[in-house]
Amino acid sequence: MTDTQSREITKADVDKFLFGKHLTSCAVCGRFRSKCDLDVHTLSCQRGATPDCSSSSTLNVLMIVCHNCGAIEFHDRTIIAKWLDSQRVTQLV
Ligand SMILES: [Zn+2]
Repeated sequence: MTDTQSREITKADVDKFLFGKHLTSCAVCGRFRSKCDLDVHTLSCQRGATPDCSSSSTLNVLMIVCHNCGAIEFHDRTIIAKWLDSQRVTQLV
């Protein structure tokens, strides 16, 4: 059984996501991105005890760094994982 929360998201996965969403150029320098043009780092932080958040869930974020200009973008890891899952389902049908 695959756990969406803990499964490793590779650079290739992120690449697939970005291309699938047509986010293929850097928002800052406009450079077309491919696998070799970005760095992916997984960040996680504990959500603080905010009034609107009942549980102290861990927030997982993917930090994507443009190799050309160093601009940093953040993408919610959960959203990417879900998108990848939906793509996988589509492929099976
Ligand atoms: Zn850039």
